[in-house]
Amino acid sequence: MANSNELADVAVIVSKVMQFRLYPTPEQQVMIWKTFGCRRWYWNQALAVIIQANIIFQKAYNAGTLDCSKIDQDYIKNLIATAAKIVKEKDESEKNKFDLSDLNIHWFKFWCPSVASFKADNPFLKEVDSQALNSVRKDLQQSCYAQFPKGKLPEFCAKNKQKRSYTAQCCYGNIRIESKGPTDNFIRLPKVGLVKIILHRPIPDGWVLKHITLTEKASGKFYISICFDAKQAEVKPLTEFKQVEAFDYSLPNLAVSASGLNDVFSDDIHWFRKMEEKLAFEQHKLSRMEYGSKNYWEQRHRVGAINEKIANRRKDFLHKLSHKVAQEFDAVGVEDIDLQAMAKSLNFGKSVTDNGFGIFRNLLAYKLKDLGKILVKVGRMFASSQTCSVCGTVNPEVKDLDVREWTCPKCGTHHDRDKNAAENIKQEAIRMLNLWLSGDKSVTVTTRGELRLASAVKGKKRKKKDSTPATEQLKQGVEPDPFKSLPLG
Ligand SMILES: [Zn+2]
Repeated sequence: MANSNELADVAVIVSKVMQFRLYPTPEQQVMIWKTFGCRRWYWNQALAVIIQANIIFQKAYNAGTLDCSKIDQDYIKNLIATAAKIVKEKDESEKNKFDLSDLNIHWFKFWCPSVASFKADNPFLKEVDSQALNSVRKDLQQSCYAQFPKGKLPEFCAKNKQKRSYTAQCCYGNIRIESKGPTDNFIRLPKVGLVKIILHRPIPDGWVLKHITLTEKASGKFYISICFDAKQAEVKPLTEFKQVEAFDYSLPNLAVSASGLNDVFSDDIHWFRKMEEKLAFEQHKLSRMEYGSKNYWEQRHRVGAINEKIANRRKDFLHKLSHKVAQEFDAVGVEDIDLQAMAKSLNFGKSVTDNGFGIFRNLLAYKLKDLGKILVKVGRMFASSQTCSVCGTVNPEVKDLDVREWTCPKCGTHHDRDKNAAENIKQEAIRMLNLWLSGDKSVTVTTRGELRLASAVKGKKRKKKDSTPATEQLKQGVEPDPFKSLPLG
């Protein structure tokens, strides 16, 4: 056992998230809904100001009245104030109509007005948690940075499509858990007050609350995800991998294992299929109700509850399975297949999304990482099905998905399609592990703790870089971004 001094040397701070059920009172629910609404209001106003500021800026640039050397933070401040004024006046007359025809969105800059600048004219913003509104600014910034290079704008948010959640940072202990008894727990939230919380598992000592995300699910239930900073002894990665397992993705069941774990993949895993009929019945009922009526909301919660149940069953099964696999094996090989593309292309989308192999891979990755073990993602071009796992002969006839069993033309081994593929993935995973242990640069460990081919990781980045509009513009001889070095709002 390490003594406390040694432990302090190797301790690292990691983020841990726990989700709990909340039971707000009707008054507290109203306050939470107000927060959702104010977030949406601020998002729409701020986005309108960003667009308007860019319109003014570009008009000045096109007219040649802009002196680029005089642009500083004060200039931007004035620009935002002017834009905000125009947005406010336009709001009353013609409701957010913008002339976007002259605009080059690739040149867009993120100049966002603060929440405080709206508060004087709109006192209702003061009713809700200011931290919840501040986090909108960050979301908007991220959205702008993601959309502008594609030549798009973030979308305005409609009332019936708003996200029913909010995130708030913990500052000076304004969010804290208070206990009034062993089963009587509350969380103090700014402006909402003490809300009943079910701590279904204890929070370890020494975990520091960082931020929360409060969500109202489609079933009408409230949940809170709490992010903690937790001090942990550093987990050293294993240096030897004795027990290696591999999974080949397979329909209609989840996967086929190389080492005989197959008993866990029963026929009992088609959670969506089992509830599909009931869900369709309730959804049909919902479609005949008047939007916004009392019956409508009751029925909508009923539909939400069915969807939630399907998701919970799936999550429960996959958590237990990935836990079991992570405990038993030192390394696990899986295929790096694109499940989303598969769901769209191969005409069995519901089955692909129903069994949740992608979630399984993600859960396995972090569970293995926490134990110092590793998930090996075998390249998607690796011919796992067509290769004979005994002699290595490639048999192109097996490409046809209908071939479930085949005999190797060279060594005569009779193969089950999926079992053979799993065995091949296992062998490839062991090969990649050995390369990594010998310090070979052709494989690399990602931040998520997955061992992958370096070419697969690099290839992805390069593709992203190539496809940005800026490089496209340069190729087409368009002049480069004139506002590149401008300060951001
Ligand atoms: Zn063979």
